[in-house]
Amino acid sequence: MNEAVSDFMSSLKNRKTGAFVYPGEKLGVIEEFLAGSGTYVENGELFSSSTGRLSLDLSRKEISVISQTHSPRIPKVGSVVVGQVVAASEKTATIRIDQIDDVKLGTSFTGILHVSDVGRTYTSNLTDMVKVGDFIRAKVISTKNREFHLSTREDMLGVVKAACVICGQVLILQRNGLRCPNCGSIARRKVAGDYGRQSSGWLM
Ligand SMILES: [Zn+2]
Repeated sequence: MNEAVSDFMSSLKNRKTGAFVYPGEKLGVIEEFLAGSGTYVENGELFSSSTGRLSLDLSRKEISVISQTHSPRIPKVGSVVVGQVVAASEKTATIRIDQIDDVKLGTSFTGILHVSDVGRTYTSNLTDMVKVGDFIRAKVISTKNREFHLSTREDMLGVVKAACVICGQVLILQRNGLRCPNCGSIARRKVAGDYGRQSSGWLM
């Protein structure tokens, strides 16, 4: 094995098929390996031309990069997320985040909403404002310790879809609050300003 190849092979120790690479990332040298799709050659060196996963074909001695345009998305401070309330107590609610900035996620994240962040006015019991099963739109206000802390204080944040706790029918927003079109019961939530008027595709 010549020096260039052994250098290259050692550089491959952390570069297995499936490794994530970025555009412009050096993949190796061309002495013994062919530049496959998703790669380019410059001054005898091989680089990735896209964001994606490395694919090594050792029998053909070819390197390629399988483009992956959907890089993993993680909620950041300021991200607007949509999710479903999976647990709620007096002080905190747990939200399964399914969507970040209008993009549906393959894998969900867990968000936490504290009673002090639900609205602008004081709320003593969070379950008066959000209930298990509600879909909410919220803003990420902290990601400390990999925990996604949410706020629904702003007008366009809050519950975007909720069901009647008595009969399960989706509640509709009226001037005096949420009302069940089936059994007529009135419900209270911290609703988003566009409750029930989201463009199609926003939920489910
Ligand atoms: Zn009802």
